[in-house]
Amino acid sequence: MPETVKGPVADLGATLMHEHVFGLSPEILWNWPDIPEGWDLEARAREAAGKLEALKAEGIDSIVDLTVVGLGRYVPAVRRVAELTSVNIVAATGLYTYDALPPYFGNRGPGSLFGGQDRLAEFFVRDLTEGIGRTGVKAAMLKCATDEPGMTPGCRRVFRAVAEAHLATGAPITTHSHEPGGLDQQRLLAACGVDLSRVVIGHAGDSTDLAYLEELLAGGSYLGMDRFGIDTISPFADRVRIVADLCARGHADRLVLSHDSYCFNDRFDPDVVRRRHPDYHLLHISRDVLPALRERGVTEDQIQLMLVDNPRRIFAWTSTSAPTGTSPRRTTS
Ligand SMILES: [Zn+2]
Repeated sequence: MPETVKGPVADLGATLMHEHVFGLSPEILWNWPDIPEGWDLEARAREAAGKLEALKAEGIDSIVDLTVVGLGRYVPAVRRVAELTSVNIVAATGLYTYDALPPYFGNRGPGSLFGGQDRLAEFFVRDLTEGIGRTGVKAAMLKCATDEPGMTPGCRRVFRAVAEAHLATGAPITTHSHEPGGLDQQRLLAACGVDLSRVVIGHAGDSTDLAYLEELLAGGSYLGMDRFGIDTISPFADRVRIVADLCARGHADRLVLSHDSYCFNDRFDPDVVRRRHPDYHLLHISRDVLPALRERGVTEDQIQLMLVDNPRRIFAWTSTSAPTGTSPRRTTS
């Protein structure tokens, strides 16, 4: 059964595969607590739960919270939200960087200034099999990222550690990608022994290049059409058109949908975000995207695949194949 913040559930139902509950900057909040974006766990948890209940009313049952280390993951707060909402929240592990590793990891491991053991995979496996911090909440997905700078040495270490944790546990992988970098991501993961059908290439939906997207699909991966509402990267009409085109070409069984939104994120000025991206919120897919897809000929069966069946298949691993107490293979390179 798929793991969620509240424990295993029988079925995730309709699932948004790339969202965030909280994006936090702990060092800012520790040192300037009086800023307007300031942090009050209970108040923010109630606010987030309200947003998730509104999502439930639109027919969505679950979100995957891809907030990993590097984005201000704080699972005790997410657990409080989970207590207050009927929406399932799936937690993730991994590391978010486009470039260098945070010093804790960057100054350890192979090739680092001080050497020692690379702890990335060890920590990821612990999150998946024992739980995150002292919360007991188990992660159910791995995440790694590259962006415009491409596969930097820091990113490469994260990808290798994610692959190692995946091979040790069976947990599915998702990425943050930047066109055409999804192909490099696939190459590296495949070289590490990962079956690419266990991988979601995230933010693929930022692209409108069918040839690129079909090359990713030929590798066997799922594509994250997962930034609906971030119109400055790719506008609504283009995002809808590319999903409709991919469905028409028979790929609905490899697409997942989401917004990449946050219930609360101290990294953005909320007023500016609302002004520049008025549709960047959790209800945009239910209210605007699905009707637009139907208008373009996407069928109910295809919507069911993208929202329900594909996420169910991606998370099927937790039912039988997640071992506990598995330690990852030692990194040798
Ligand atoms: Zn994201």
